[in-house]
Amino acid sequence: ECQLIRWGPIRVSQYACQRRTTLDNRNKIFTDAFEVLVEHLEFSDSKGPCLAFKRAASVLKSLPSTLRHLGDADGLPCLGEHCRDVLEAIQCVISHQLFTSVFGVGPKTAEKWYHRGLRTLQEVVSQPNVHLNKMQRAGLLYYRDISRGISRAEADAVGRIIAETMHCISPSATMTLTGGFRRGKAFGHDVDYILSTPESGAEEALLLRVIDRLRYQGILLYCDYQESTFDKERIPCRRFEAMDHFPKCFLILKLDAMTVEDGGLQNNPEDQRGWRAVRVDLVAPPADRYAYTLLGWTGSTQFERDLRRFARLERGMLLDNHALYDRNKSILLPAKTEEDIFAHLGLEYIEPWQRNA
Ligand code: ATP
Ligand code: MN
Ligand code: MN
Repeated sequence: ECQLIRWGPIRVSQYACQRRTTLDNRNKIFTDAFEVLVEHLEFSDSKGPCLAFKRAASVLKSLPSTLRHLGDADGLPCLGEHCRDVLEAIQCVISHQLFTSVFGVGPKTAEKWYHRGLRTLQEVVSQPNVHLNKMQRAGLLYYRDISRGISRAEADAVGRIIAETMHCISPSATMTLTGGFRRGKAFGHDVDYILSTPESGAEEALLLRVIDRLRYQGILLYCDYQESTFDKERIPCRRFEAMDHFPKCFLILKLDAMTVEDGGLQNNPEDQRGWRAVRVDLVAPPADRYAYTLLGWTGSTQFERDLRRFARLERGMLLDNHALYDRNKSILLPAKTEEDIFAHLGLEYIEPWQRNA
């Protein structure tokens, strides 16, 4: 009689023919990873662990629950040291992806939560001694909506709300869609807009008044306002700066289904509230920096990174969201349009929809 190893309330055999394995795989996220590894190894010279990984994946497929902690694998057959290392790496990556998908949670917080043994968002919210800042609390509160993604129709509805609000305050102000939607994406994680005023200097007050009006309309669910730290004498620095110095805000707005053109709120039948939460970013640069801001906020992140690298290495220039500095001539180069900036850099113009690098 062969040995059935006790694992919690059940017994697990090392033989698949002594296990019941349905298509209801609670550990798909891990077994998929093991299967990718196997495929990779089968093409290489080290086919050694292939069978071990296949056996480990097969055991995981038979379990009634998801292995969230490394200790959960204790006592399971076919999960030796090598397999457990792989399992732990996958658990770590999955937690990192989950936690950093929460608005307000970066890699540091994600790592802290993981090392505290937290694995699910439910665990994060129900732990009394986990400190959450205001942004993270909002991120968790609206997590389901925010993680769902925003359609182009929803982004356009957000645009109409912001435009109307802004034009009530200042008829001459303008706004431009930027970020992923400007690059032609059909879905985004947020909607990004640049607000600008014809004369430099009025933009920060405009942005503050827009926020006030959104609050007054009762649709401002969350607002993180970052005031201007912009110094117009400053020269782009050598190190890549993720954040720029213009006044900006990271918002969560309440979007009424009735305002969305296709009315569907992505046709989500389970959503009976008639509204959803959407992430919106607004940035308000001075008018003379509009082109640099537009180029910087259109992305993609990789496109931006290489624009800056190209400017530095191939042209001896420093580029960021505020300006372009020619180090040879020691001058800041003015630009009215993105085309001007490409021309300063001696680059052919690349359309926004061609910047999905
Ligand atoms: P998604 O559809 O996921 O929103 P996206 O390309 O629009 O894709 P975002 O994170 O919204 O991604 O960023 C858009 C662009 O704005 C990126 O190029 C990014 O570098 C830039 N950006 C975002 N936040 C800031 C910030 N605080 N300061 C400066 N630039 C920023
Ligand atoms: Mn975006
Ligand atoms: Mn954004």
